[in-house]
Amino acid sequence: MAVIKANAYGHGLVPTALALEAADALAVARLAEALTVREAGVRTPLVLLEGVFTSEEMDAAARLGLQLVVHSPGQLDLLAAWSGSYRFSIWVKVDTGMNRLGFRVEEFAAVWERVNSLRSVAARPRFMTHLAAADEPDSELTRLQLERARRLITASGAEASLANSAGLIAWREARADWVRPGLMLYGMSPFADRAGRQHGLEPAMTLRTQLIAVRDLAAGETVGYGASWRAERPARIGIAAIGYGDGYPRHLGSGTPVLVNDRSAALVGRVSMDMIAVDVTALDAAPGDEVVLWGRGLPVERVAACAGTIPYELVCGISQRVAIDWR
Ligand SMILES: *Cc1c(COP(=O)(O)O)cnc(C)c1O
Repeated sequence: MAVIKANAYGHGLVPTALALEAADALAVARLAEALTVREAGVRTPLVLLEGVFTSEEMDAAARLGLQLVVHSPGQLDLLAAWSGSYRFSIWVKVDTGMNRLGFRVEEFAAVWERVNSLRSVAARPRFMTHLAAADEPDSELTRLQLERARRLITASGAEASLANSAGLIAWREARADWVRPGLMLYGMSPFADRAGRQHGLEPAMTLRTQLIAVRDLAAGETVGYGASWRAERPARIGIAAIGYGDGYPRHLGSGTPVLVNDRSAALVGRVSMDMIAVDVTALDAAPGDEVVLWGRGLPVERVAACAGTIPYELVCGISQRVAIDWR
């Protein structure tokens, strides 16, 4: 089940859905995302990870032929009240320890009996749970979650899905019938101390722009808003056309790595809305030169560490005005 929520982690929902059309299923978080995927002509089984919350959303889900995750009593009531002819394929989500969505382990037997008695539910409902700490080696919680899940799967005989990317890579016992990779599909690592490369993955996204100006600074001159960076000696600065308006985080500091013509350089001064400054003193740089912010040659995992965040947030934060070039 290929997870393409959040604009396919910033990669573009429709082109990604088309590229992954052959998956056994696709998964999105919101109904609006499912609508976009269906309007693009993608007929692949499509799972709504948060399910529906109103009868209007049920109608839409039926029209779009969606599979629903069912995680709450309210959603069971919606299914019980459904009078249409569509039969929903559902995933009963159990909270085995994440404490976010799902029925409690003790409730499962009753919920399972109820869904199997509902006319609105297609044959063979499935089991789903989500791991809270699969990215931590030797996580006691993960062991506990897997053990709880295993018991319920055995009792119900249901097809099951337990693993996100981290679970899939690091916990063999979590693989089950279905896996739900998101981040790793796009070539990134869910582990804090690794990059996609170390799992044999290549980044799908390279965020690039170009230099639109180059200027020479005398020692003592400063760059950008707040004059936060000062040249200690004569320096050459390249101005690249990217900024926080594109999703390049404003709080990245001087020293953050960037590539100019495939060579290492460093961000200097504050990130503006539309521009950044790069120290190109040691390079032979000119306007028009390519600047890579992350991706091929510069793992987004490394930039995420500089930003004090995770690669998920950086790629999801790519804004609308960034053109996606599917070469
Ligand atoms: C987002 C999500 C995934 C994918 O997680 P990754 O860490 O990106 O692999 C899987 N399952 C559920 C329920 C999710 O919400």
